[in-house]
Amino acid sequence: MGDQMNFQNAERPAILGGIPVRPEGPPIWPRRDLQVDLAIRNLLETGDWGRYHGRHVPELCRRLAEYQNVEHVLPCSSGTVAVELALRGVGVAEKDEVILAGYDFKANFQNVLCVRAIPVLVDLDPLTWQLDCEKLSNAITDRTKAILISHLHGGFVDAPKVRQIADLQGIPVIEDVCQCPGAMLYGRRAGNWGDVSVLSFGGSKLLTAGRGGAVMTARTDVAERIKRYVHRGNDAYPLSEAQAAIVSPQIDQLDYLNGCRREFVEKLTSKLSENTGLSVLQTPNENFLPAYYKVGFQYGAAGFHNMPRSLFIASLQAEGIAFNTGFRGLHLIHASRRFVAADELIQASRADVGMLTLHHPVLLEGADAIDEVVAAVEKVRKWADEIQSTHLTQ
Ligand SMILES: *Cc1c(COP(=O)(O)O)cnc(C)c1O
Repeated sequence: MGDQMNFQNAERPAILGGIPVRPEGPPIWPRRDLQVDLAIRNLLETGDWGRYHGRHVPELCRRLAEYQNVEHVLPCSSGTVAVELALRGVGVAEKDEVILAGYDFKANFQNVLCVRAIPVLVDLDPLTWQLDCEKLSNAITDRTKAILISHLHGGFVDAPKVRQIADLQGIPVIEDVCQCPGAMLYGRRAGNWGDVSVLSFGGSKLLTAGRGGAVMTARTDVAERIKRYVHRGNDAYPLSEAQAAIVSPQIDQLDYLNGCRREFVEKLTSKLSENTGLSVLQTPNENFLPAYYKVGFQYGAAGFHNMPRSLFIASLQAEGIAFNTGFRGLHLIHASRRFVAADELIQASRADVGMLTLHHPVLLEGADAIDEVVAAVEKVRKWADEIQSTHLTQ
């Protein structure tokens, strides 16, 4: 009798009072890392943590420049600031137009406003849910001063195509690789397709020091313009010695860990593939090697008995799996006088309600965790009707 009760509890979804698939919840991030431990101990022993200028920031820039194969690496205080500096670096000024996707990190839009330029929003590709290159030419005017592309949720903007279009018109490209350090496109690192690219060391990111960022560019004129803006007798947006010392050793592990994450996602998607409802964002072709910060899926409620995305997410979170929404469509959260819509932004509106993301820490947990994610998804699918009748108000 008792056994039967337990069995039923194990079967039931956690959102209906059953036992979660991962009672311990999602893995914490950042993980404990011996190399980071050593770096922090070294900061303590040497007093380097307290210095304005030391060897750690230059060392990080040198390592990043080598890893990324880029001439100039300029450290700064966040990825958000890095985007602003990149815009200033390519000379964006008042009344200029900056093209970006209608679905992007909110601060990217705000940064365009911050430099008094006008965001011009372009729709997403229906399969990749990244900026649609086919729609790009249409958005270009003689006031276009930059194209800002963000590779989001493990997907890719087709950067070589963007490059081609931008080069025809002499427009600089800013590449946001905050979500995909180490990813490759056609054998070249993400970040090397833009005139300038930006990295974040924010607390949830693949390279992390809690805060921090960097701008990378091969263009000396861009680097000089940014340096002039940032240096006011003192650095206005500094990265600290401690932050740099903590990020440095993570670069050595990045390729290996990105490989582990990819393997996880490949196995996960192959196990989910027979079912409808969760389709991982597609890449334009096989020449893209992703780095997963979030794994993006197109959520199809029909695959889960029409369960709304929000309830699916709540159900999976109750199981201890870190699914979440993506971003909001930029056109849906900003007054229309703030931007120009280059087209109808149909896919950006779809992504606003249909993007599903899985946060990356679980991707390093190995084969058992793959089965846990699959088990949790299948449990919620199986109980979709009961979950809805309990949790949706009649
Ligand atoms: C995280 C992120 C940034 C910048 O983040 P910060 O927290 O300011 O370092 C910029 N763009 C994208 C796409 C991001 O995901």
